[in-house]
Amino acid sequence: MGRSEELFEQAIKVLPGGVNSPVRAYRAVGMAPRFITRADGPFIWDEDGKQYIDYVCSWGPMILGHNHPVIREAVEKAVKDGLSFGAPTRREVEIAQLMVDLVPNIEMVRMVNSGTEAVMSAVRLARGATGRDKIIKFEGCYHGHSDCLLVNAGSSALAGGHPSSAGVPEDIVKHTLTAQFNDLSSVEALLDAWSGQIACIIVEPVAANMGVVGPAPGFLEGLRKLCDKSGALLIFDEVITGFRLALGGAQAYFGVKADLVTFGKIIGGGMPVGAYCGSRALMEQVAPCGPVYQAGTLSGNPVAMAAGLAQLTYLKEHPEVYTDIAAKGEQLAAGLRQAIAKTGAPVVVNQIGSLLAPFFTPTAVTTFVDAKGSDVGKYAKYFQGMLERGVALAPAQFEAMFVSAAHGEAELQATLDAAEEVFRSL
Ligand SMILES: *Cc1c(COP(=O)(O)O)cnc(C)c1O
Repeated sequence: MGRSEELFEQAIKVLPGGVNSPVRAYRAVGMAPRFITRADGPFIWDEDGKQYIDYVCSWGPMILGHNHPVIREAVEKAVKDGLSFGAPTRREVEIAQLMVDLVPNIEMVRMVNSGTEAVMSAVRLARGATGRDKIIKFEGCYHGHSDCLLVNAGSSALAGGHPSSAGVPEDIVKHTLTAQFNDLSSVEALLDAWSGQIACIIVEPVAANMGVVGPAPGFLEGLRKLCDKSGALLIFDEVITGFRLALGGAQAYFGVKADLVTFGKIIGGGMPVGAYCGSRALMEQVAPCGPVYQAGTLSGNPVAMAAGLAQLTYLKEHPEVYTDIAAKGEQLAAGLRQAIAKTGAPVVVNQIGSLLAPFFTPTAVTTFVDAKGSDVGKYAKYFQGMLERGVALAPAQFEAMFVSAAHGEAELQATLDAAEEVFRSL
């Protein structure tokens, strides 16, 4: 038994499932999770000292690779001045100015502590600003674990949602309507059925919590038009895509404007940070300017802001990072497809920029229904085979593979060699 297995035995006694977030639990792949001791560049090391090429990248934040010296030094410097003041600081102004500068169509920023909090607050703001209660989300899109967004998307959408978690009252999620990603007619049907009652449509512009599924041509543009027509606000949940697809995020990448945008992951540089952003008119509806209440003891924490500011400043000064990570994403996708062709494995690969996902199905994946058709048993075998060969992937099918600026030619090649062997064994 390895040290991760030993630690996991202790962990399950004091932490539900042995983890502090379910996605880490390796349940879908039937193993004890690796307990990680440190990370550097494209690598992580587990308690047994085994090294892995890491494509989880903390679920997205580590776009520059792990333990980047610029971010580490910014944090070390900030720590010396104190951990939290509960008062405004210079860095909060600087990071907001930088975000407003880089992201299209936003004039103001409110910092929070997680992506969940950012989305929950953006939805509250959309409801407060429109005076409407209902929201539309898409089946298979994840927006954090706040009550109104945890909806069993399999239920009859027109009848309103049903909770997908115990402890979420039906009364709360009856206002959450579910449409199909990449299907505008499913959105139109909801807008017609609940005319004048929809506060917002919230979407991951690239669905990256069902594997990776990009928007069909015209889908995001269509949502924009439907929002303009119905008076609903369009929320882009850019907790993954923000500062990853491009410096300006999905709005810049796809040329579609959202009314509210949420961020997390990358903007914290590895520290717990989220943000929601929009026009001055909308954002000034938020307390203390307006009637929409939202607050946070540790929001804009000085150490977290130092990490985020360092990462965003680095990205602004090195825009070549985006062409670099997209090229690596393409190289991995092309290499995986070659390995698939050679081995005859029934796998398809979706890739957009530095986000990619293999699905264990022979047919194209453009919808959530397609994604659900993937053979998760095969994914588990693939995951185990890759882990044995020193490649750490997300321990579940319906997650993205994240490529960072630190992944070099040698790591990409080693990953592709491992994948070919594993595909052959499936
Ligand atoms: C991760 C994620 C969230 C939730 O962020 P947390 O920081 O985990 O609360 C929300 N939306 C999307 C699209 C995400 O990927």
